[in-house]
Amino acid sequence: MTALRRGPALFLDRDGSLIEEVGYLSRLEQMRLLPRAAEAVRTANEAGMPVVVVSNQSGVARGLIDEDFVERSGAHLGELLESAGARLDAIYTCPHHPAGNAPYNIVCPCRKPAPGMIERACRDLALSADGAFMIGDKVSDVETGKGLGIVPLLVRTGFGRGSERELPADFARRGGRVFDDLAEAVDWAVGTQPVGGPQVLPNDS
Ligand SMILES: [Mg+2]
Ligand SMILES: [Zn+2]
Repeated sequence: MTALRRGPALFLDRDGSLIEEVGYLSRLEQMRLLPRAAEAVRTANEAGMPVVVVSNQSGVARGLIDEDFVERSGAHLGELLESAGARLDAIYTCPHHPAGNAPYNIVCPCRKPAPGMIERACRDLALSADGAFMIGDKVSDVETGKGLGIVPLLVRTGFGRGSERELPADFARRGGRVFDDLAEAVDWAVGTQPVGGPQVLPNDS
């Protein structure tokens, strides 16, 4: 018996990082994968790195979409990627916003940059935040998981070019880097791992 050792996790923002930023996506037809995004997820899959989407969906709190739509858009995203041979390990979303409508108008522990979604994924999927990567197009993405040892990667898609001018002072100190798109970021993240990818180890259980 052998067990495949998993590589570090990739936590991925959705809008502007994986799919086109359209501003509060509210119809499935608006969902388009960014160029080479599926290829990026596939690269992570092949390297044995779990891929987990963590997405603020405050459109729910703002009354623009409902939780059912968030659920359906997650399934649709999974299908789009699957048809390109790529697979997500999980999707976590936060429907809250303090200025939104009840019952979503709370300061919650999951809205990025708060680490709630990442912490939940780590518990659910037995992942480690330390050494994982968080990839997104906003400053709130690269701030997520601060203090947990997560390496922040900013992509220049979506709002990324603007965010690049507002990066926090400790971004580089935390190992932060900026890439043109998700494929570049994932290629780099995979390249930081031992040559040959995750090792096949004897199963000691
Ligand atoms: Mg985004
Ligand atoms: Zn939340």
